[in-house]
Amino acid sequence: MRIVIIGAGVIGLATAWRAAQGGAAVTLVDPAPASGASSVAAGMLTPVSELSYGEEPLLRLGLASRDRYGAFAAELAEATGLDTGYRDDGTLQVAFDADDLKLLDDLRAFQESLGIPVEALTGRECRKAEPMLAPGVRGGLLAPEDGSVDPRRLAPALLAAGERLGVRLVRRRAEGVLVEHDTAAGVRLDDGTEIRADKVLLAAGPWSGDLGGLPAGTVPPVRPVKGQVIRLRTPVPFLRRTTRGLVKGSSIYLVPRADGEIVIGATQEELGFDTRVTAGGLWELLRDARELLPGITELEFAEVTAGLRPGSPDNAPLMGPTALPGFYLGTGHFRNGILLAPVSADALAAMLLDGPVPEVAAPFSPARFSPEPQ
Ligand code: FAD
Repeated sequence: MRIVIIGAGVIGLATAWRAAQGGAAVTLVDPAPASGASSVAAGMLTPVSELSYGEEPLLRLGLASRDRYGAFAAELAEATGLDTGYRDDGTLQVAFDADDLKLLDDLRAFQESLGIPVEALTGRECRKAEPMLAPGVRGGLLAPEDGSVDPRRLAPALLAAGERLGVRLVRRRAEGVLVEHDTAAGVRLDDGTEIRADKVLLAAGPWSGDLGGLPAGTVPPVRPVKGQVIRLRTPVPFLRRTTRGLVKGSSIYLVPRADGEIVIGATQEELGFDTRVTAGGLWELLRDARELLPGITELEFAEVTAGLRPGSPDNAPLMGPTALPGFYLGTGHFRNGILLAPVSADALAAMLLDGPVPEVAAPFSPARFSPEPQ
């Protein structure tokens, strides 16, 4: 089975690795591997604290992926000797004022109605858990099983693991899909070269809607959703675990790493392919971060970046076959692509190799956006 995967972000990389483990001859096509959202993302693995009303199937997919992460990271470390910065030390979500606490209470009731274990903490208990929190913090929720990973370590580990199993990386842009006899037959690159394959997977993140040569009805409805993040550095531990906050209704998160990096994020902006960093975006992030953790302004500034999330109409990924035989989608992972990488890779590799697909992936077929009646 020859498979070509367009895009080497975490989704393409993880699927390439799993498909190669399943015996496929895999070619990854990307002019700049892991240069998209996967290089900007904070790496939170927080299906519980990210829970939104009406997104229960996405929650189940997120929980299934989070529960795979420990073994996934260990398997990668074993295969490559590379550490992914995986942590499973929980996520604390705190409320800045009384209105924020009301929102968190509602969230807790919703989480409990779905049988998800979370622990309600008083303001004092929050500060005991995270001593750098501001004295005024009203209360919070601890999701003990959520965690984080460092996407900038994860992507190279996935690439190395794939290469060890023979995954070939072609550093070129895919311009279009080759279609022969109404079936996908490979991809055409920007230098005119053709790579022939039995199956083609499109995993080009927010650029997935731009590929040429696709018949009507197979172009994924994916759009870029901009997010700005700030990276700080601290020589001494500042936060013990991922800390999310509601500050006068707006959301902020801080993700600490063992090497002293702290990622603060993120804005959410509908501005097309714009990746400019703006003064207003940075101000909002620092303003809210300082309200929660006043000491944050003492830390060293390291980097500021803007990335593009692959957004879809229902905030959920599109994974599976399309109306074009041999052409598959693995895109639209929006805010959760790092979290969803393990389960997406298992599902996509199984689809490409005609194996058993995990049940939790069933609701994410691209067919839900098909113009044809189901
Ligand atoms: P990408 O990582 O964008 O990769 C797409 C790849 O396709 C790129 O390498 C690009 O070069 C390549 N490509 C594009 N066009 C072509 C072409 N024509 N030919 C060949 N290659 C092509 N998720 C979480 O789970 N937790 C988080 O905490 C989190 N935080 C985030 C914070 C921010 C600010 C942002 C922007 C995103 C965040 N995300 C988070 C979301 C996550 O980053 C994405 O869902 C995930 O990275 C998507 O991965 P991908 O492989 O689909 O796309």
